[in-house]
Amino acid sequence: MLNFADKLQNSFFKTISKVCYTSNVKAFVIGGFVRDLIIARPSKDVDIVVVGSGIKVARKVADEMGSGTSVKYFKNFGTAMIRSGDWIIEFVGARKESYRSHSRKPIVEDGSLSDDQNRRDFTINAMSLSLQKNTFGDLLDPFNGVDDIKNGIIRTPLDPDITFSDDPLRMLRAIRFATQLNFKIDPDTLDAITRNRKRITIVSMERVVDELNLIIMSPIPSIGFKLLDETGLLEIIFPKFADLKGVEVINHQAHKDNFYHTLQVLDNLSEKSDELWLRWAAILHDIAKPVTKRYSPKTGWTFHGHEFIGSKMVPGIFKKLKLPLNEKMRYVQKMVQLHLRPIVLAQEIVTDSAIRRLLFDAGDDIDDLMMLCDADITSKNEERVRKYLNNFQLVRRKLKEVEEKDNLRNWQPPITGEIIMETFGLSPSKTVGDIKVAIREAILDGEIDNSYKEAYSYMLERGKEKKLRVVKIIEDPNLNISENNK
Ligand code: ATP
Repeated sequence: MLNFADKLQNSFFKTISKVCYTSNVKAFVIGGFVRDLIIARPSKDVDIVVVGSGIKVARKVADEMGSGTSVKYFKNFGTAMIRSGDWIIEFVGARKESYRSHSRKPIVEDGSLSDDQNRRDFTINAMSLSLQKNTFGDLLDPFNGVDDIKNGIIRTPLDPDITFSDDPLRMLRAIRFATQLNFKIDPDTLDAITRNRKRITIVSMERVVDELNLIIMSPIPSIGFKLLDETGLLEIIFPKFADLKGVEVINHQAHKDNFYHTLQVLDNLSEKSDELWLRWAAILHDIAKPVTKRYSPKTGWTFHGHEFIGSKMVPGIFKKLKLPLNEKMRYVQKMVQLHLRPIVLAQEIVTDSAIRRLLFDAGDDIDDLMMLCDADITSKNEERVRKYLNNFQLVRRKLKEVEEKDNLRNWQPPITGEIIMETFGLSPSKTVGDIKVAIREAILDGEIDNSYKEAYSYMLERGKEKKLRVVKIIEDPNLNISENNK
């Protein structure tokens, strides 16, 4: 019998043990904490299952632990949560569950420890550690979870068809754990996911996406997406992504498989960044390739405008997946829209003005964009990869130079609409907008300096062309502030 008493050093484990001894009830550490302890993945979330009332035990434990302990009770669920430092300890009574076909919410009854272990999703999540005085730290592992951890296997404790049909969210959890831990899903378990895939539709999209995001945040997210594809789940929960699959050949010319390309980009990026939304940008960067795909004998396969159409598809996809429709979404849209710009730059002679435009359009997100573009180089031709990466280094150097010189990040042109209106006595109109755009373009093209003085005289010239009368000369407002401060 394996014993982990030495891993239960924190004093609250002893306190729980003592309380249970005096109250004559049994309690066990169960689930993720035990799994992570054996994998040596440190965790501070502890689930305690009590054969009896979790709430009663939690109350006594909190009393014993004294000041500095916060405890919350969730009477409807029969659970309680104690916070102690950065530890979170949840107490729940042992349960027996039975399911109906239309819902993943079970009918719950009090049960024994083994009832509680039977309702767990995977063998590696069903292990428990005794907190009883005589057996403190003993591992109770009815389904050989330790062996499955050793061999890197995700497997359901009971018949997988029943486990997944009862609660279809477990199918995504299986794929999520396989991805996070780089484990294989046992073949019978995997087949059952394929057979039960349609049951996923009874799970709310919010829960589906929580799991999807955990897959995306794993070290090698492609593991999960390949499994989602293989089992047919991807087609159901995220069909637009599944649409990227496949290669078409005309006249012996084939385009690349955009699904596997995208997964490669996502994996590449994940080595460099653990930003969820940048990873989403990688997933969606080529999402419009299927709808923009054309073949012509002259040019072969093209995907013209896929960056613009793709960025327009983002809100619809976010809405379906119940992802936030806020600045996170706008950031992903921006990344998708701009993802070709550095590549185009790297292929041409890099001019200052092209760099200025890129800085102006990307703003503070320029470093993320460059990371995405690096990740997007997935050619098998090493020579070509080297060339692109070298060119990107050049683009990066130029970006730095221009940035230092012109300070264009989050830049606003020095002449506002107000100033144009006051100078020419205009009310808000298209003319004002046209002049404003002309000034911005002239600065970005390097025709004039990024200064109030040059921009103002440029504005006066454009006004003259449009036969506007100058009614007032407006001084540089920033200059006035510093003059007054003197
Ligand atoms: P993580 O903290 O990485 O999400 P975890 O295993 O701790 O992993 P939780 O969702 O907190 O995940 O679940 C705690 C335990 O509850 C699991 O280890 C498992 O035993 C059980 N469990 C959670 N969800 C389910 C489910 N849908 N079906 C069966 N058992 C579940």
